[in-house]
Amino acid sequence: MGRLRRSRVHNARRDVHRAARTRVRTRDLDQIQLLDLDPKRRAELEAQPLDFEKPGLAQHYCVECAKYYETDAALTSHWRSKVHKRRCKQLKEPAYTIEESERAAGLGRAERKPPTVAAVMEDVVLAAT
Ligand SMILES: [Zn+2]
Repeated sequence: MGRLRRSRVHNARRDVHRAARTRVRTRDLDQIQLLDLDPKRRAELEAQPLDFEKPGLAQHYCVECAKYYETDAALTSHWRSKVHKRRCKQLKEPAYTIEESERAAGLGRAERKPPTVAAVMEDVVLAAT
């Protein structure tokens, strides 16, 4: 048995340690997809008031990546970058919703059948024991 592969396993994924920290946690993909990409909300995010706490006074914000940039040049070069393009691709896929998770667990509305007499009797027996 050879050595398990440890090198070249992070294809273009820079700084994996930083990405795992909660301090740098950004908005989740479904939050961006369902809330931020709405045209009205998007316009709001792109024209934020001056905020001295945020990088670049919150004037250069990438909605898809939920990230602030220092300058306009940094933002434009980010839009051309691989990270941004990958993110856009991820956002095109439909978000994982509660309905989908319920369907996966067999709790979806479509699959719900009226309980049969046998199933009810089984529940009564289980409750009695
Ligand atoms: Zn971006």
